Amino acid sequence: MVEEKRCCVCGEPLDPDNISQCNLCGGYFHMAWSVDVQMHECGRYWLNEQTCSLWFICTNCEHRLPSQ
Ligand SMILES: [Zn+2]
Ligand SMILES: [Zn+2]
Repeated sequence: MVEEKRCCVCGEPLDPDNISQCNLCGGYFHMAWSVDVQMHECGRYWLNEQTCSLWFICTNCEHRLPSQ
């Protein structure tokens, strides 16, 4: 039996096709990978200019960061 992943932000079950892992806390959260998907998102991504890599961040961690 596969353990069900739950969103680290809202606590609801995750859709394995629309999921991201936070680079800061390591938790999984809701993220829509298709424009056709109607779902709430619990985080966002941005391009880290120092490492030129894509970073994912959940809403929990976003709120902990100082605004830039
Ligand atoms: Zn969520
Ligand atoms: Zn996080």
